[in-house]
Amino acid sequence: MFRMLTASAVTLAVTASPAPAERIDHEINARIREEGRERSQIMPTVHVLTDVYGPRLTGSPNHKAAAEWAVKRMTEWGFENGHLEPWDFNHPGWLNERFSGFIVSPVKDSLVGEVLAWTPSTNGAVTADAVHVVPPSSFTKEELAAWVEETRPKVKGRIVLMGRHVIVPVTIVKPPLRRDYDEVRRQFDPATPIPAGPPPTVAAQLPAAPLPADPTRVPARAVAEAIDAMLVSGGALVRVNDAARDHGQIRAFNNSTFDPARTVPTVVLRNEDFGRISRILADGTPVKLEFTIVNRLYPEGRTSYNAIAEIPGSDKRDEVVMLGGHLDSWHSATGATDNAIGCAVMMEAARILKSVGVRPRRTIRVALWGGEEQGLLGSKAYVRQHFGTYEAPKPEFDRFAGYFNMDTGTGRIRGASVFGPPAAGGILREAFTPFEDLGLVGATTTRSRRSGGTDSTSFNEAGLPGIGLGQDPIEYGTYTWHTNLDTYERIIEEDTKKSAVAIAAAVYHLAMRDEVLPRFSQEEMPPPPAAPTVSTGGDGPTDQRGNRPADQPINGSQQKE
Ligand SMILES: [Zn+2]
Repeated sequence: MFRMLTASAVTLAVTASPAPAERIDHEINARIREEGRERSQIMPTVHVLTDVYGPRLTGSPNHKAAAEWAVKRMTEWGFENGHLEPWDFNHPGWLNERFSGFIVSPVKDSLVGEVLAWTPSTNGAVTADAVHVVPPSSFTKEELAAWVEETRPKVKGRIVLMGRHVIVPVTIVKPPLRRDYDEVRRQFDPATPIPAGPPPTVAAQLPAAPLPADPTRVPARAVAEAIDAMLVSGGALVRVNDAARDHGQIRAFNNSTFDPARTVPTVVLRNEDFGRISRILADGTPVKLEFTIVNRLYPEGRTSYNAIAEIPGSDKRDEVVMLGGHLDSWHSATGATDNAIGCAVMMEAARILKSVGVRPRRTIRVALWGGEEQGLLGSKAYVRQHFGTYEAPKPEFDRFAGYFNMDTGTGRIRGASVFGPPAAGGILREAFTPFEDLGLVGATTTRSRRSGGTDSTSFNEAGLPGIGLGQDPIEYGTYTWHTNLDTYERIIEEDTKKSAVAIAAAVYHLAMRDEVLPRFSQEEMPPPPAAPTVSTGGDGPTDQRGNRPADQPINGSQQKE
């Protein structure tokens, strides 16, 4: 097998301060490989988390049941101190139980859609004429008020298609499913200057940065709320949004207020159905639609949970190495690649260590977060409660030895990025190097304390070594992330087994070495972000379709797409 270790190590020694070589336990690594390859529990775990408990929307009984099951399973594997840790979500749980939609005139056909979360039910089956309402792309305050007055009478008793039908261009050049070895090598080589943004193949998929707000225009979120209020007060029966993606993909997020009383029943229709109805209406032909939506609220969802279990350490048991991912999902599929698989791989990595009988010096703790999709809420609560921040540390702050996070789909892990000085990246790199044959090429570092994108950044924000894992994209950004296509079938078992093996070895290494991962010195530590840097409860970009993405694209240390 071709190896870059020698050349890279030399480069590192020349350009960075030489670090003492890590003692890698090759005998344990061989046993980890064998356990992960021969007795993997990843697919049975994913099956239960997706097929049995999905979707796992934060605050829903499904999410809590999945968390309870995960704790029970880890306890059966011999983990200790398994429990749920509550945190305040402050919104009721919500689940859709039933959805059907039809065009009943001038033709008869079924429609494909998903219900927007935290919106109300229809009053049984509702049938009504459709009306297509296209708001201008921006408003002054006066224009918005006039538009609302003019539009309100048109929506009474109607099913309202909101917003222009989006023409989705065909994708001629498909992004690669696997990342090129040279490209990932450059990204995860600490001797390579870190580019400011994400790697080019990822950057191409990310939305452009928002333009600075024009003070004369009403912000998009306020426009969206005014439109919802107009539909409620005007007596619209159902709101229909365009999914605006090709091949029937639908992303349905949430009513940004989390209050069903402030919206009408809302459906995100596949682009093709929305287009068909809007074109028939544009011909001047009346269209009648029928929808049945049954949603349920769960007041107990105001408290949500992180699921925790651990393998106790020995002589350094007060110090902890953590690994995890978010267990909550969006609701239009069963949340397999986002992020049952991250949970299943991290549970498996710890199970492998338990099964091969290691006796870690530090405690190894698995955490499966809730509320990630609403703004990293569970992991932020946990970090606040247990560790504090660099500026206001709790006693556990200094005893924290790293947190590995997986949240980019099914693709095998290709590299890691840790918040900390170059020496921290070098240590991870050495731990990963024996797994180059599985796709791992290295580790690098980040200085960013901006949170967003995924839960490792909740640790970075506090000044703790969060470790984000870069993965092969496979179909994450293109098909499965947040869509109605995110199911068990999209998991590539071979890739996930490789990821679990490499993570198990790296976790074990951090649990055994004499010192915790090096941190920034007082002079080196970047200042904390000036303001909260992640959207919570819908502060993200809200388009007029209300299909708000909550996982924001993240910094260059990890590819969300
Ligand atoms: Zn996710």
